[in-house]
Amino acid sequence: MAIHIDGKTKLCALLGNPVEHTLSPAIHNFLADQLGIPLVYVAFGVERAELEDAVRGGLALGILGFNVTVPFKQSVMSCLTGLEDGARAIGAVNTLVRSDQGFCGYNTDWIGLKRLLFHADISLQGRTVVLLGAGGEAWAAAYVCGCEKAEKLYILNRTREKAVVLAERMHTQFPSMECCALEMNEWTKMEESGLIALQATSVGLWPHTDCAPIEDVKFYQRLDAAVDMIYKPEETLFMRLAADAGAKTANGLNMLLYQAVAAFELWVGRKVEPSVVSRAKDMLKQEIGFQRNE
Ligand code: NAP
Repeated sequence: MAIHIDGKTKLCALLGNPVEHTLSPAIHNFLADQLGIPLVYVAFGVERAELEDAVRGGLALGILGFNVTVPFKQSVMSCLTGLEDGARAIGAVNTLVRSDQGFCGYNTDWIGLKRLLFHADISLQGRTVVLLGAGGEAWAAAYVCGCEKAEKLYILNRTREKAVVLAERMHTQFPSMECCALEMNEWTKMEESGLIALQATSVGLWPHTDCAPIEDVKFYQRLDAAVDMIYKPEETLFMRLAADAGAKTANGLNMLLYQAVAAFELWVGRKVEPSVVSRAKDMLKQEIGFQRNE
């Protein structure tokens, strides 16, 4: 891909620290190239004390939009002129969109997960969901459960207090969704089967691929579907245990892809066609080191 840059080329960028291993430039530059949009995307590693200057500088330089990653997803909120509802409910921003007054904050992680579920043909409506984890991505996942009208949400986390905070916030946000916080090893207290599990801990992430947050096969026998937000390895131990117990499984690659597509669509004000998304997914698999065809 030869990038043509001239005086009309727009810039989008990632703010984070570290940023060396991000896949965002690969995705966004690919989308811009495929759609013939004069846009270049780069990654900026920023010091915490300079975040506000970076955002203000972006505004002055005419930067069209930013992605924001660890560790700035919360702290960037004080640099913004507005917040979209999802970002406010989740308490984290991963996308900044330029407006006349300044940058507006969005969260497209939840949109990425919602689109992943749609493409995997997994509906949360009226279902009991078990969410593993209570970190940043778990907040996005819990928000999706509320938006998609899950009936009941179990939040299991190593640190129970964090699960309690998330459960309370989600129950306030979505009063009709029953929310229940447990420690990870208290999964036996759940009475239901036919569960949909969303795995949002970092357990099992490459290169530590031989572990899962719960390893008892009896847990997996309760599942109808299991989604791991991890995308490397392609099949985590969590997914393998779920598949062995007969559950439908999906990894987090589509979440990564669709959160980027949603951000790109916000910046350029147009939809990315499914054929382009599909080619972007092939490119992404190669970048991550997967086989081209699953
Ligand atoms: P985070 O905010 O740091 O949260 C980490 C979560 O993992 C917490 O719930 C933490 O529990 C739990 N955890 C960590 N080590 C554990 C252990 N040894 N045993 C049990 N639980 C453990 O991270 P995050 O940003 O939410 O990311 C979570 C996962 O999502 C990561 O695997 C990341 O790769 C993946 N992710 C995917 C995408 C995507 O687009 N697909 C995007 C971002 C992240 P405590 O609260 O007890 O510490």
